Amino acid sequence: MNGANYFLIVNFLVGISFCTVFLIVSTRSRSRIAARWIAVAYAVASLSAIAELLVAYTDFPKVFAIAAFMSVLAGLLLIRVGVARLYGVPAHLTALAGFFCAAVVLDVFIYDLPRGTWLHALSYQTPFALAMLFSAIAVIRSSRREPIDRAMVVLLSVATLQFPVKAVIAVLVGAGPTAKDYVHSPYALVSQSMTGVFVVLVGLMLLSVFVLEIMEEARSDSEVDALSSVFNRRGFDAGCERVLRRQPVGPHALILCDIDHFKRVNDTFGHYSGDRVIRTFADLLSNSAPEDAVVGRLGGEEFCVMLPGVSLNAAMLFAQALRGSMAMQPIAGLPQTFRVTASFGVSIFKSSADMSAAMRFADNALYEAKAAGRNCVRQHQSVMPIAMAAG
Ligand code: GH3
Ligand code: MG
Ligand code: MG
Repeated sequence: MNGANYFLIVNFLVGISFCTVFLIVSTRSRSRIAARWIAVAYAVASLSAIAELLVAYTDFPKVFAIAAFMSVLAGLLLIRVGVARLYGVPAHLTALAGFFCAAVVLDVFIYDLPRGTWLHALSYQTPFALAMLFSAIAVIRSSRREPIDRAMVVLLSVATLQFPVKAVIAVLVGAGPTAKDYVHSPYALVSQSMTGVFVVLVGLMLLSVFVLEIMEEARSDSEVDALSSVFNRRGFDAGCERVLRRQPVGPHALILCDIDHFKRVNDTFGHYSGDRVIRTFADLLSNSAPEDAVVGRLGGEEFCVMLPGVSLNAAMLFAQALRGSMAMQPIAGLPQTFRVTASFGVSIFKSSADMSAAMRFADNALYEAKAAGRNCVRQHQSVMPIAMAAG
């Protein structure tokens, strides 16, 4: 077996392995459709290796040479569809199918041209280069600019350039006088080894994007409370840390909230209705809070809202608005006239170092609100300078 044959078989096995890996990834990924498109792309492209071997070892070289061209091009275009799905940009299936048909017609047309000429080599490689370029453009068009996305653009661009480079090598070194001779030409060795490297690099890079996405999802799942869909305690702490890193200069406000007589809701209407009340209150908090606020369920029926860059007065007004909304809101599934109220304790702090003290102060204020009869807002009497507190 010569070197190019060997690379063809290796590339086939690598392609099938990546297909399997992407199918496995699709069972865990949020972008499962993208992973399936890419799996199909690898399966289809790997068939080109079989077709290339059939070109050399059967009496139907033209049929299999065109089949090889079709499977590589289809694989590249399917990668483009997968990348588009992964990066949330339009896939343009009809346009890609049209491009595919036009390129196949071109390939049939140039089949009998002398091989090793610029016209043949460039006409043969240009559709591949364009198909790969479409993927690079899809990533550029998306709004994602993480380091991995930038690396993806670079890799796809370099992978695009391999095709004109192959055309140059085909002309300089010679791709065999006929398609049947291709597999025995030195060009085939260079071409197939380049293909092998890019099949692996693009596959690994795409895989990294999926793995990072799955890891990010697992992290955010571990920070979100399943019942109320706001942060849990861990997520709240991490969320506050992130926000305070971006906006370290205070004052910042904390509003600690606790649903009143919640045990009675559970005892009267059942635990399921209690859960509904928790969800309703959480929705009210997250829908009312500003974009940069952090909303968390700290436990049971106790919630906290951290408002960055907000003065005590503004936080008091916001807490009063929340209190009023909750007290007026009917709860789905509970009697139409039944109302649930909540009590609120507000405090402010200057920097993240003071946040845990501010949490205790808000807790004291909440305790005062409960002691004052519930359904009310109390503030911690700040030790901060008045000007800062009024902010
Ligand atoms: P207060 O006005 O003083 O806050 O009284 P309360 O009844 O709201 O407070 P208490 O702490 O006595 O009761 C809280 C109840 O919340 C007790 C617990 O069974 C219930 N609870 C905690 N977590 C959940 C939950 O996830 N779902 C439901 N339905 N109930 C919960
Ligand atoms: Mg309570
Ligand atoms: Mg409580």
